[in-house]
Amino acid sequence: MRKCLRCGTEMKENCAIKVEGAGYGIIMSSDENKLFGGRIGKPKVAICPKCGEVSIYVEDVEKL
Ligand SMILES: [Zn+2]
Repeated sequence: MRKCLRCGTEMKENCAIKVEGAGYGIIMSSDENKLFGGRIGKPKVAICPKCGEVSIYVEDVEKL
C-alpha cells in the first residue's frame, strides 16, 4: 500500500500511464545501454485522491 508523499493519504494504485497523442509506451531501464535489451517492465502509477500527487513506480523491483 502506498501513501501520498505530500499528505499521507492512501493512494489509488495500479493506474496505467498513457502518453497522450503518442502510441509509444514508456520504457524504463536502470542502465541506459540496456534500454532496448533489458526491460524492467511497465511503470505503474499511483494517484492521491486528495491532493492529486502522482507517483510512478515499478511493481517488479527485482529486475532492477
Ligand atoms: Zn496527497
